[in-house]
Amino acid sequence: MTQPIDAPANDTLSLPEAASRLLGLRAVLFDLDGVITPTAEIHMHAWAKLFSAELAARGITEPYTDADYFQYIDGKPRYDGVRAMLASRGIVLPEGSPSDAPELETVCGLGNRKNSVFTAVLEEDGIAPYPGSVAFLDAVERAGLQVAVVSSSKNAEVVLRAAGLRDRFGVVMDGVVAAHEGIAGKPAPDTYVEAGRLLGCSPAECVVVEDAHSGVQAGRSGDFGLVLGVDRGIGHQALIDAGADVVVDDLEELVAPLIEASPAPQTPTAPHDSSEDQA
Ligand SMILES: [Mg+2]
Repeated sequence: MTQPIDAPANDTLSLPEAASRLLGLRAVLFDLDGVITPTAEIHMHAWAKLFSAELAARGITEPYTDADYFQYIDGKPRYDGVRAMLASRGIVLPEGSPSDAPELETVCGLGNRKNSVFTAVLEEDGIAPYPGSVAFLDAVERAGLQVAVVSSSKNAEVVLRAAGLRDRFGVVMDGVVAAHEGIAGKPAPDTYVEAGRLLGCSPAECVVVEDAHSGVQAGRSGDFGLVLGVDRGIGHQALIDAGADVVVDDLEELVAPLIEASPAPQTPTAPHDSSEDQA
């Protein structure tokens, strides 16, 4: 993967500006994969487990590697990745159908098996959320903002449980809920709008936090109060171009500005001589 060179961003907010705008809003809507949890690593691990076993079972000696993941699977819809990976080793399987059991030797069966492996790996190993994201979550909650998760994934519930964070979010708008309710996915803003509505907030009162181009676009086109990009490798400029108001490499960067921009806590004691405290 190549990264675009980060160009200076003249029209984005500084961290103190972003923090103070954020404190004027009412809710923070978090994407999950890549924002709260490093889920991509688990996906890669699950693909490796699936194809290492599959190639071995077929007596193919050229092993599955991470290079295969980046060449044939990364960024594609699941079944397209399966088909391309199999073709790289000269294997052609029937397509099957998305309802195929994971045991079936079809393109869809293998794709579904990958998802079973993914959830099993998560449940066995758990997943550590990004520490900076947890610190940011703590800071916005301390500041009195509400929080929700808005994810395209159908695995959001299992990822949040594996990360030990399920209880932190009253609203989880994920791929299962969106499909059930017929809500358009990202880059349409609809899942973010609906999560905000469930918290009693208009888009203008919400922050969208995203690491993907399509998710930032959703925040921009929905006229949210703040669109916060998290650069996990796509490049700052790509997120700015998609419509982010500010981009960070890690949400930890906003924790100190949030504390600094927060109104001073009310103290019950009378103010004393101002010359002492203002250093
Ligand atoms: Mg993401």
